[in-house]
Amino acid sequence: MRRIVEVLPPPGETGHNGTMTRTTVSIVESVLKANDQLAAQNRARLDAAGVFGLNVMASPGAGKTSLILRTIDALAGRARIGVVEGDTTAVTIDAERVASRGIPAVQINTAGSCHLDAAMVGNALAELPLADLDLVIVENVGNLVCPAGFALGTHASVAVASVPEGDDKPYKYPRIYRGLDALVLNKIDLEPYVRFDETYFRRGVEDLNPGLAYFGLSCETGAGVPAWAEWIAQRCQKAGAAHS
Ligand code: MG
Ligand code: ZN
Repeated sequence: MRRIVEVLPPPGETGHNGTMTRTTVSIVESVLKANDQLAAQNRARLDAAGVFGLNVMASPGAGKTSLILRTIDALAGRARIGVVEGDTTAVTIDAERVASRGIPAVQINTAGSCHLDAAMVGNALAELPLADLDLVIVENVGNLVCPAGFALGTHASVAVASVPEGDDKPYKYPRIYRGLDALVLNKIDLEPYVRFDETYFRRGVEDLNPGLAYFGLSCETGAGVPAWAEWIAQRCQKAGAAHS
């Protein structure tokens, strides 16, 4: 038999462990508070320019960059787009793919950090011609855990899940799903070849985030992309109208 034993300092006693715990918690809280203040500045900057900000999160390989490229093509002539590419290294493959579409793209090298924070995004926004844009898409670092804990100042968050990753992602990473404004299920063209129970997947999503906007699509074939692009286009229009 195995037991899980929780070790706590005796009540009323401020032992070493107890002190350590409280200190750690208060540091984390103040880091997040500072991040929230910078996120509010980012939001104000986007709002002042009438730009809609979208935070794109996913695990590595789900298709964040492919979705961004599809979105750029689908919104051509409808929205002027800038892209912020978060990466843990100085590798600029994704930023170059975006820039090759003639889109202003800024690369953030997080130097190993596994998520973007509001300060990084603020620095990137300063490099973009916000006055000439309708939409800024931020590609977060490929990770389903901590990006959910750091507000960036964007107006909406979308996660990209993909068929080959499996249908249990919402059950394993509930926090990220709770904070979403939209969910994309990418690589639906692979459904005939991979075990993926979409009903089970969607039930998990619905339990965490009832009524969440949901787009099944394929960045490979383009199927389902128009409905997704329409969702963004409407939000860009609203942001622009609120501004003018
Ligand atoms: Mg990418
Ligand atoms: Zn992280």
